[in-house]
Amino acid sequence: MAQDDLFKKLIAHAKEYGYIFQSSEIYDGLSAVYDYGQMGVELKNNIKKFWWDAMVKMHENIVGIDAAIFMHPEIWNASGHTSAFNDPLIDNKDSKKRYRADDLIEEHIQKYQAKINKDIAKGRKKFGDDFDEKQFLETNPNVLRNKSKIDEIQGRLVKALEADDLNEIKQIIVDCEIADPVSGSKNWTDVRQFNLMFETQLGSVADGASKIYLRPETAQGIFVNYLNVQKTGRMKLPFGIAQIGKAFRNEIVARQFIFRMREFEQMEMQFFVKPGTEMEWFEHWKEMRINWHKAMGLPEEKYRFHKHDKLAHYANAAYDIEFEFPFGFKELEGIHSRTDFDLAQHQKFSGKKLQYFDPESGESFVPYVVETSIGLDRTFLSILSACLKDEEIKKENGESDTRVVLQIPPALAPIKLAVLPLVKKDGLPKKARAIIDELKFDFTCQYDEKDSIGRRYRRQDAIGTPYCITIDHQTLEDNTVTIRNRDTMGQERIKIDELAGIVDDKVNMKKLLKKIF
Ligand code: ATP
Repeated sequence: MAQDDLFKKLIAHAKEYGYIFQSSEIYDGLSAVYDYGQMGVELKNNIKKFWWDAMVKMHENIVGIDAAIFMHPEIWNASGHTSAFNDPLIDNKDSKKRYRADDLIEEHIQKYQAKINKDIAKGRKKFGDDFDEKQFLETNPNVLRNKSKIDEIQGRLVKALEADDLNEIKQIIVDCEIADPVSGSKNWTDVRQFNLMFETQLGSVADGASKIYLRPETAQGIFVNYLNVQKTGRMKLPFGIAQIGKAFRNEIVARQFIFRMREFEQMEMQFFVKPGTEMEWFEHWKEMRINWHKAMGLPEEKYRFHKHDKLAHYANAAYDIEFEFPFGFKELEGIHSRTDFDLAQHQKFSGKKLQYFDPESGESFVPYVVETSIGLDRTFLSILSACLKDEEIKKENGESDTRVVLQIPPALAPIKLAVLPLVKKDGLPKKARAIIDELKFDFTCQYDEKDSIGRRYRRQDAIGTPYCITIDHQTLEDNTVTIRNRDTMGQERIKIDELAGIVDDKVNMKKLLKKIF
């Protein structure tokens, strides 16, 4: 399936099966805001649990908090968000569409990369096993020409962003003859900075009200609680504080479903370390985080690291973990070495000491921080996009059929077990309910008696339920059921007593965690 079609299909599927709805849909929706439906919320909760357990439960030296969304406005001056949390925006005068100027340039650069990839594929086809990719990249004139183009544009962009030179960003767009992807027009406005924070008022009396912000990241709630947690938890360096919560950004471009939303959720962990040890921990967390992603079992080639050329004002090293979404490789998680920037700034702006007393050396200092920051919604999207499959299946009579199956990692699947009485009579529904009553304490179960058994299987495949069990007349005689595996579609007759063990073995979160720890 073409990637564009896959993405459209995914959005339709997410709606049809209760994963994601457009916010305020009956009022024609609200741009870049989405609601999670009955299946979506379960998957989301399971992802959160996998992350939380991997951080907090598996580490003696990481604890969690849940800070408020509203914070003292001075925090955003200290963190640099009021002055620097901007994106450069540009409008096309003909199409009236608005873009992030740096994104337009990045996408242009990717076109040169696509040409290089095409040449590599051609070379591989021509030379077969004798193809030496390294040599090809170093010597092929087309590749070298495209590579030097990439380096040149990238170099200019990084420099312009670092210097906040908006005229130069516009000039790059003009020089590269970048056209509006929608209309093809090159009639651009100047580039302007746009602050992404949402503002609101605190207090009921207009005069006395003060301007506050909806937090654009959860991290600051951790920094301002550093001392509270360190003291009350008697934490010793190195230690981490984890948090899952909503963040809000007035994104300029919001056209990629839940990839870029104006209200979204982050899962962040700030790891406080002794200055000078941060690079060691940075490497450690890079590895831990990629292992967490890989433990879910999505295709490994869909992940890659991307090193930041332009570092944020607070960082001395930064990598993204990118995922290959249907619209290409994009950021899924950021891992940043944030130095002592945040704590030092809060110390300065609040006038309160935010230091750590090291009993071994007898010294006090402001700790350094390594941050891991992952978007919950983007993780959700990565799972849906890698797991939604259109499968061709051969029937016993030789004919072929298709099924849509959502092969979500079983531990994360919203419903673990569907319990299906073969017919709606003869005491089979009662038996099915009795099984659910026994298993519902451990697994999310769904009862379904409507339509033929084949259609019910298909419905569960589309939701992503790892197991279906069928209750038939034999069940009443010998307490056995048929269990059907979502991925293999294989069926087996087992004793009801064995059911909990079989399902647990497949869906227990421990399975995923054991791959990492
Ligand atoms: P991008 O460059 O894509 O705008 P970012 O670098 O600004 O992302 P961070 O500030 O590092 O993102 O935020 C950490 C994580 O939060 C990101 O890796 C991403 O998964 C998630 N995230 C950021 N912005 C959004 C958004 N608008 N919608 C959904 N998730 C987001």
